[in-house]
Amino acid sequence: MQYIPNILFILVLVAGIGYFTKNVRKVIRNIRLGKDVDRSDNKGERFKNMARIALGQSKMVRRPVAGILHIVVYLGFIIINIEVLEIIIDGIFGTHRIFAFLGGLYDFLIGSFEILAFLVFVGVVLFWIRRNVIKLKRFWNPEMKGWPKNDGNFILYFEMVLMTLFLVMNASDLQLQTLGADHYIKAGAYPISQYISPLFNGMSETALIVLERACWWVHIIGILVFLNYLYFSKHLHILLAFPNTYYGDLNPKGELDNLEAVTKEVQLMMDPSADPFAAPADDQQEGEPEKFGASDVADLNWVQLLNAYTCTECGRCTSECPANQTGKKLSPRKIMMDTRDRLKELGDNIDKNGSFVDDGKQLLNDYITPEELWACTSCNACVETCPVSISPLSIIIDMRRYLVMEQSAAPSDLNNMMTNIENNGAPWPFNQMDRLNWSNE
Ligand code: SF4
Ligand code: SF4
Repeated sequence: MQYIPNILFILVLVAGIGYFTKNVRKVIRNIRLGKDVDRSDNKGERFKNMARIALGQSKMVRRPVAGILHIVVYLGFIIINIEVLEIIIDGIFGTHRIFAFLGGLYDFLIGSFEILAFLVFVGVVLFWIRRNVIKLKRFWNPEMKGWPKNDGNFILYFEMVLMTLFLVMNASDLQLQTLGADHYIKAGAYPISQYISPLFNGMSETALIVLERACWWVHIIGILVFLNYLYFSKHLHILLAFPNTYYGDLNPKGELDNLEAVTKEVQLMMDPSADPFAAPADDQQEGEPEKFGASDVADLNWVQLLNAYTCTECGRCTSECPANQTGKKLSPRKIMMDTRDRLKELGDNIDKNGSFVDDGKQLLNDYITPEELWACTSCNACVETCPVSISPLSIIIDMRRYLVMEQSAAPSDLNNMMTNIENNGAPWPFNQMDRLNWSNE
């Protein structure tokens, strides 16, 4: 009978971690649906980028208020969760504050966690005010209606509740320590909860134990729910920002990749000894001509798909985008959100049918329209400003390549220019022979 809470705890823990692991595997499977791209070069520089951008949040602080608040909430939340280690050990073995033997160090840790919990709470309230009272424009764009808006708020409520539970748990524990209750050894420093604790003056020992245990259980269950919520939320970036910044593009700013399929075609044309019937690429079916550009998520590479899962929906890209600023339909944030939604749809299709069954949909037209794609000026501002090294531009370019090379569906102005380049070697509608006519004037 005395072991029932321990058994219950182990069951909750296994279920929470098991479900999370199952969903992480789905994310990895979905990202692997993308085409291969080699990002195994320059490991040193990649680690440096990851440390600087994901851990150091160097791009976040370009907007200092949001940046500093984000650092407080992010690092505070992560550090406080070191406490979870103690909760897990206590839960499994039925102990209480197992690390109390650390003495002064334990007091320092618990004291620091409390201060951080308070700062996280304040930071989260300010974030909530920015979103819902000040109504910052980028959080109210059309793509932020419905679930994305609620998702942004849910996570703030989650953190407020978790921090409150942590502080109330400590406050009731402090009361029990003062009363000398069995099991509640004197340990820890409580710089914040000592001010909450007087609220419980006069409560019986039993009522305090019920309060402390309730906070303890709801806190750990809340953390497991939070962990599993990540999969359904933009907050997956808490984890994915690290691989995403590591595998980011190291090419100079704005440099576009050559299309591999076109390079191969040109090499075939230029090389008289090339075998036109050589084995197809790994991701190409026998006899199927290679596709130019991307019309669906499986035509994008795995880094682009990782980008889509990592997008924080912060909207910095959209607020910097000249096309969006001048009222065009394009929002680079929406490009990333659409890519992720379509990728999830593809993954669900595979889960349901065992393998992908054509659903008559694709990223192009069903999610992203040509009008959005052609509104892009390819200025690179979205890439430059993104705090987690995402490139909406690379997806836009790959989808445009599909429109031009597979569908000949470029806007007429562009078609004229391309015809001119083909015929005259220049974008203007003049014969090469007339080039020097200006000198006759
Ligand atoms: S590259 Fe395109 S999408 Fe990105 S900011 Fe410039 S115009 Fe907007
Ligand atoms: S692409 Fe980057 S800047 Fe744009 S919304 Fe996503 S995380 Fe923010």
